Amino acid sequence: MRLTVTDVTKSFGGTRVLRGASLTVEEGDLAAVLGPSGCGKTTLLRIIAGFESLDSGSVRIGDREVSGLPPERRKVGIVPQEAALFPHLSVARNVGFGLPRGSAERIEECLELVGLAGLGARMPHQISGGQQQRVALARALAPRPGVVLLDEPFNALDRSLRVSVRDEVRAALKRAGATAVLVTHDQEEALSMADTVAVMREGRIVQEGSPISVYAEPFDLGVATFVGEAVVLAATSDHGVASCELGSLPQRTNGVPGRGRVALRPEQFVLREPGEGAAGLVERVEFFGHDAAVTVVLDSETVVRARTRGDVLHRPGDRVGVTVQGPVLFFPE
Ligand code: ATP
Repeated sequence: MRLTVTDVTKSFGGTRVLRGASLTVEEGDLAAVLGPSGCGKTTLLRIIAGFESLDSGSVRIGDREVSGLPPERRKVGIVPQEAALFPHLSVARNVGFGLPRGSAERIEECLELVGLAGLGARMPHQISGGQQQRVALARALAPRPGVVLLDEPFNALDRSLRVSVRDEVRAALKRAGATAVLVTHDQEEALSMADTVAVMREGRIVQEGSPISVYAEPFDLGVATFVGEAVVLAATSDHGVASCELGSLPQRTNGVPGRGRVALRPEQFVLREPGEGAAGLVERVEFFGHDAAVTVVLDSETVVRARTRGDVLHRPGDRVGVTVQGPVLFFPE
């Protein structure tokens, strides 16, 4: 079902934690709420779930205003940070915990949704951490909730496991047709998994949109540097051209002429022969296989990190020239 959070405020003691947070998630979409530690993500999730009351604003699931209802009447499924399965109950009984008796078919259906068909008889300690997290998802999906909330659900998993569990969780949510909210401070997780990203800062959602639009058209410099990497340089804008130490560069959008800053993405830097562009010295090369990141200290002391192809030919200590390709993001002062 569609989830609509409108202008929610919440204080603890005298501290305002949510300052008018609004969020819309369309039916069947997975939205990631992305923000730094302490910005209010978990509080927002707990308010949607009904574990915390709100001071003002509203939460609607489908057509229903739920902010006055207790958690069990909201039809919300929750996947916590750690699977938190009952250790003495089988996987199937964990999944069926909130269901009426005689729900064996629904339990098996949910295990199938998360790719664990046939594992119902196992005990939690007999399956991997990633599988436990998928059981927690099956448990959340079992009562057919209107909205599924996932609170940093991959935190307890090690890095190598995370990526595959992420894919499986996304696929299961899509198979179930669930409307879901994923809270995370991991931008790669948000950008790669979600249909929409809501960037949260100091108790507010400051931008909502597709992962591509939030990356390519950030609302302000704060979003530009939080969502993706950027080198920020002083610049002056005039008629859609921003001039900075790396040259005069076309802007992504025309703005008011004047002073401000440009945010340059790693994939915009091009490494060239010395003599072309801004001169610098290669400090570090990180090789990732399909691509690489080359850190260059320019003679101006500005440090840039360029994403290049995997067949990188540079070595630390090489002299290079650096230019910038494509339109740049300019933010007026
Ligand atoms: P993290 O990513 O670290 O989990 P978060 O974005 O989820 O952070 P919240 O857990 O929502 O942030 O916390 C936001 C602020 O509200 C923090 O400063 C926190 O200390 C405060 N806070 C949260 N719950 C309570 C509470 N029950 N009583 C008092 N303060 C609280």
